[in-house]
Amino acid sequence: MITCPVCGQRTVGKVGADQYFCWDCCVEFIMSGQSFKVFDVELDGTLTLHDDPMQNAVNLEVQKG
Ligand SMILES: [Zn+2]
Repeated sequence: MITCPVCGQRTVGKVGADQYFCWDCCVEFIMSGQSFKVFDVELDGTLTLHDDPMQNAVNLEVQKG
């Protein structure tokens, strides 16, 4: 079961091979193994990287080693 990495809900639709869309917070995300990238969908349909505080926390952990 795919859940949204941002809100944790299951209102997720598949839009590509490894690409999903969350209807709850209107973000797209791409799953690759255990990692994922989250994108905001702009009004004109373009994707911009979603600034997720949880991902920043993970990056800090990685930097600490
Ligand atoms: Zn969501």
